[in-house]
Amino acid sequence: MRGILRVLVFALLVTVSFVPMVRDADLAKPHVAANESRGSPPVDISKTIADYDEFSVGNFAGTEFSNLNLSLKLNEVSSTVEGNLTVDFYNDDPVPFSQIPFHLYPSGMLYESRQGNITVLNVTTTSEPIQEMPYSVLWEQQLMWVNLTDSLLPGERTEFHIEFITTLPDGLDRANVHGENGNQSRIYTVSSSYPIPCVYDRFDGWNTDPYVGFGDPFYIDMAFYEFYLNAPNDMIVAATGELIESDSDGESTTYHFDPILPVREVTFAASRYYQMESANVNGVNVSSFYLPDSQPEWEDDVLEWASLTLTLLNETYGVYPYSTLNVVEQHGFYGGMEYPCQVYMTRGVLERVRAETLFPEYLELVVVHEVAHQWWSQLVGDDCIDWGFLDEGLTCWSHNYYGEVYYSDWEYFQYYRYLDTVRTHHEEFEIGSVINQSNYERPDLVGYIDYTKAPLILEKLRVEIGHEKFVESLSHFFRQNYFEIATLPNLQEAFEFVCGEDMDWFFLPWFDNPFLPDYSFVGVVYNLTDGTLTISVEDLNEGSNPYSYSQQVLVRVDNNFDGVLLEETVWINGTTTFTRLVSTRPSEVCLDYEDYVLVDLISYDVDSLSTQNIQIVGTPSLTNLWGFLPIEILPAIAVTGIVLVLVFYVFINRRSGNATW
Ligand SMILES: [Zn+2]
Repeated sequence: MRGILRVLVFALLVTVSFVPMVRDADLAKPHVAANESRGSPPVDISKTIADYDEFSVGNFAGTEFSNLNLSLKLNEVSSTVEGNLTVDFYNDDPVPFSQIPFHLYPSGMLYESRQGNITVLNVTTTSEPIQEMPYSVLWEQQLMWVNLTDSLLPGERTEFHIEFITTLPDGLDRANVHGENGNQSRIYTVSSSYPIPCVYDRFDGWNTDPYVGFGDPFYIDMAFYEFYLNAPNDMIVAATGELIESDSDGESTTYHFDPILPVREVTFAASRYYQMESANVNGVNVSSFYLPDSQPEWEDDVLEWASLTLTLLNETYGVYPYSTLNVVEQHGFYGGMEYPCQVYMTRGVLERVRAETLFPEYLELVVVHEVAHQWWSQLVGDDCIDWGFLDEGLTCWSHNYYGEVYYSDWEYFQYYRYLDTVRTHHEEFEIGSVINQSNYERPDLVGYIDYTKAPLILEKLRVEIGHEKFVESLSHFFRQNYFEIATLPNLQEAFEFVCGEDMDWFFLPWFDNPFLPDYSFVGVVYNLTDGTLTISVEDLNEGSNPYSYSQQVLVRVDNNFDGVLLEETVWINGTTTFTRLVSTRPSEVCLDYEDYVLVDLISYDVDSLSTQNIQIVGTPSLTNLWGFLPIEILPAIAVTGIVLVLVFYVFINRRSGNATW
């Protein structure tokens, strides 16, 4: 019996593949064949990781911020807010200022019959004798310029006082009054509703952008706030910061909120009908505020989701340093909106979930997403118009990461897979899409780029460099830009620091190219003489993109008879040719797109590219004899060979009278 086994093994070995050998060591290294290089990102020497250690425990000694003292008085009947803002403005820019612009956002917000507005009553000095200061309001730009009495030099401060009245619009925009008392749904949401200082930067000078209708229009510096708020008694108020004290005069209550640490803005919402829950999560007072009718979905769950997000992202990126975090129900045309220490989820989300036009997990998605914005857009700020893909991309990646951690699936919240959407976007819309652009340059693509393509590219980066380096890089980026403004080069810088290599090979093509790769086999040649298989893959979109892509793709080589001859992950760097040894003549070569390979596809269903068009060259050597024979007859030859060997074996044994079976 052992003799027969030995013969069978021998016969089978003839047709079994050899272990393939890697021939092109260079292919293991990604390279950039770019027309130009972005080079090392500019490093802002004022940003040091050391600040994180101090800031995260609330120590801002030695770091200057503007101080804003804001008092708001809500008039429930007229839907107006009387406001007083004392600005102690610190010039942290390298140029002197003779005037300072302020956003007056409400007049740009949606409305039905009552348009939002900020009427500036006066601007005055704060020191005696009090004097009026000249200012101009540009209605169309939702802007006010305050002219300073003296030029404000870098590193200096100036103080003045602005008195104003805000009319809250009655639409479903970020500030609004909506809902009815009759069904206990009336809510006053007061966001971006006072004069907010514009940001000066080296890219644009003063960023005086109006309240644009695509993406988020905000770009705001950190400042210390004292926030006083007066609202009618019996109203429940949710606001940015710790409630220091409240004082009622019988008709209304004045609340003093203090975020304690710098924030980019303050917001509040008030309703006679809010129900509130709170929990202490590692020293942070997490609260939810919701309407009575929303109780079935909001009770317990919203608080739980916010707390889980807070815990996860604290551990993943770095410390949320404030003592309060509110999730508040509001009316709005969107899903949710983030502000410092307070985020909103709209009643509309709940209604659509109940109507089954949104999947049920959407409620959790919105809460997690808006809370994640505390890390991306708040603690690390950005210009949401020019770099909006940065905070939305990071926030979307984060809410998907929450899905991965708590539901074991990074795509848990993706009703439409990002991967499918991005791979078929070009086919469906016949346009390219560059991530690294201002929203002004591609307003119609903001939703797709910021919320789908950008987080997918971040996930792609994780696939390429591995989870640990990826998360460590994000954490480094967070700490490096804590309480600062960040841009894409700052993100790349963080990845380069952690990975210890130039990351142009990833960031340039994936963030700046309009088109994904579109691979095609331009030549697959099998050489019978030496058993080499040379595969040439062309990126058909290479000429339409400024940079060449590098990504890892699983290559599989099959033979009808032997099955898989070769399975290996290969770096495809633009148009690429590579050679491998295979034991026998292959019948099919395939690029497997399963593992987050990003390519243009014509359909969701396609997950590979294969060819059977294999050119055969050379003459067969003895070791490649099997490769020379037509594939179709190989099984018959193999069986015949086995039978002949067996017959021969039996014949020999019988002749010697030594049969063993
Ligand atoms: Zn967002």
